Amino acid sequence: MANPNSGASLVGGPDGTKRRVSYFYEPTIGDYYYGQGHPMKPHRIRMAHNLVVHYYLHRRMEISRPFPASATDIRRFHSNDYVDFLSSVSPETVAALSSSAPGSAQDSTSSSAAGSSARQFRRFNVGEDCPVFDGLFEFCQASAGGSLGAAVKLNRGDADIAINWAGGLHHAKKGEASGFCYVNDIVLGILELLKYHQRVLYVDIDIHHGDGVEEAFYTTNRVMTVSFHKFGDFFPGSGHIKDTGYGQGKYYALNVPLNDGMDDDSFRGLFRPIIQKVMEVYQPNAVVLQCGADSLSGDRLGCFNLSVRGHADCLRFLRSFNVPLMVLGGGGYTIRNVARCWCYETAVAVGVEPENKLPYNEYYEYFGPDYTLHIEPKNMENQNSIKDLEKIRNALLEHLSKIEHAPSVQFQERPPATDPPEEEDEAMDCRPAPRIWNGGCYDSDPEEDQKSQNEDSNMESDSLADSEIPQNHNDT
Ligand SMILES: [Zn+2]
Repeated sequence: MANPNSGASLVGGPDGTKRRVSYFYEPTIGDYYYGQGHPMKPHRIRMAHNLVVHYYLHRRMEISRPFPASATDIRRFHSNDYVDFLSSVSPETVAALSSSAPGSAQDSTSSSAAGSSARQFRRFNVGEDCPVFDGLFEFCQASAGGSLGAAVKLNRGDADIAINWAGGLHHAKKGEASGFCYVNDIVLGILELLKYHQRVLYVDIDIHHGDGVEEAFYTTNRVMTVSFHKFGDFFPGSGHIKDTGYGQGKYYALNVPLNDGMDDDSFRGLFRPIIQKVMEVYQPNAVVLQCGADSLSGDRLGCFNLSVRGHADCLRFLRSFNVPLMVLGGGGYTIRNVARCWCYETAVAVGVEPENKLPYNEYYEYFGPDYTLHIEPKNMENQNSIKDLEKIRNALLEHLSKIEHAPSVQFQERPPATDPPEEEDEAMDCRPAPRIWNGGCYDSDPEEDQKSQNEDSNMESDSLADSEIPQNHNDT
């Protein structure tokens, strides 16, 4: 087997040259349904795939149906009790709970069972943002299975770029759901990459902070996380510019806090110089890019003003470094634009420029009145001043200057961190869980809803301990 760290298997040359692209798609993914009025719609992945096929992009890459991630796979990051809960909970459990609510007829046994379920729901943070829906665990298995499959492809040197639009669920924590995410496919995928790669770079362009991934790798230098996100009175609330990692991980977590109205030029003016510097100083052996599409203009939950081209420029830039690259989905709540974005990014990955006029496809009516692939940014104020952006860029470059050269072996000497006792988990139940969505139904686009019927105090505790991070097999 070719050494996947050598990069020798990649087609050399400047950007625009061919890459071997592997694309993971589970055909049933679009059938999972978070519930009426819920903004997260797995249907958008099917829409993106449908565009990919009608642009004939599938002929330019290898398509695989992912193996579902097993409970054992998922336990490599998530806690046993949480995985047990996810794999056994069902909408019927929830229905039983509400039918035994105070005031309804019940016996004492069902009442105490209901009380225990209610505690579990709070403990694992399922309910409003993260509802229990039909097939929830299978959905998680498909999402995580795609990212694990993508990691294995890259590890074997069988692909240069591996795509899983059903992945990118960056808010999920070791022992709880958060922000529409239940299983953190990204952490699982990175752990798989770490078996073969000394250093993995994670880049997150979702409008929300990539908190779950940052937290998991906060104390290690084997993974550098870089998140670009809206910061200030916005979910999940973390991702301050001064949060840079801890212990051996100090300066290996980077945060780029932004304001409303980020446009293509402003985004590019931060992304390119910061990532250029990251690539120089960190020299990752593999890169994972979370392409959350809620940073696009006109997103239902987001407030940035990026075009599809501006969003895809991040992928274009990372691709140009010729380092094994995993490309994942994430947020994105104006689903016609999510489909546009991920289709275009698939085209960028394979190195073609698709026509702006959309081909006829099964969801054609979603794309009116213009029926184009690209979207115009909105006429909205960019609340990020040139001065602010310069300050942020300089602060990030300053953090990066603290890393003199790529770390190699010293990481192995860290003492293993210990897990917090279970009692602390219980105490955490009292926290009000922050919400990504105010719970209101969306009236801006009821047609879309209709169509898709058929989506710091304890910061170290959930970081992965040394012993949980695989040693890589190859010397670098
Ligand atoms: Zn998001």
